[in-house]
Amino acid sequence: MVKSRYALIKDIKEYAVTNKVPIMKSEGIDFLTTFIIKHQITTVLEIGTAIGYSAIMMALCNPNLKVTTIERDEERYLEAIKNIKKMQLEDRITLIFNDALKTRIEGKYDLIFIDAAKAQNIKFFELFERNLIEGGFIITDNMYFHGLVNKNEKEIKSRNVRGIVRKIKDYIAFLKNNDNYNTTIYDIGDGIAVSEKKTKGGA
Ligand code: SAM
Repeated sequence: MVKSRYALIKDIKEYAVTNKVPIMKSEGIDFLTTFIIKHQITTVLEIGTAIGYSAIMMALCNPNLKVTTIERDEERYLEAIKNIKKMQLEDRITLIFNDALKTRIEGKYDLIFIDAAKAQNIKFFELFERNLIEGGFIITDNMYFHGLVNKNEKEIKSRNVRGIVRKIKDYIAFLKNNDNYNTTIYDIGDGIAVSEKKTKGGA
């Protein structure tokens, strides 16, 4: 029996839990897909595919949407290929297997979605903003990093995690001080930053 899209999405989410693959929370996905519909987004560049869950959800919310997505972990990339094929979205989702920091992308996108190594957010932003249209958006997930960004650093035992939290705080400051963008951080899911690129001569 051919599985419904709903059943396939359920399988992808279950695989993520079983294999400890971090994927976007439901509130985050709802926000992202609603945003895409509201702003009539038709092209997305995603940094951090994992197993293709968010790319698939974005593609499903708008039949005219095309997603290019980059993943460096081979096992996840291969799983994403399988999932996208099962969903019959190969013609609208392009997968790139590479370290995003070593990847150069041609063309411009309405939306860039950053959901990869959290300590590298500034690098991803600076590398890919050249691929954003005037008036386009850069959305970044996990601005709260599981609630740790608003916690007293002394309470965070792991040195590694403290380092990531500091980098996220640096990224928030970078976004707020970036005069080329208007950034709002939404208290949704794990904290989502929306940075709107100002149009030339506009506000
Ligand atoms: N966006 C996915 C979703 O919600 O379905 C989840 C992405 S997961 C949070 C982050 C992914 O980014 C991981 O699979 C990780 O391997 C990948 N990643 C981290 N740094 C990367 C890099 N420099 N280049 C490409 N992929 C990267």
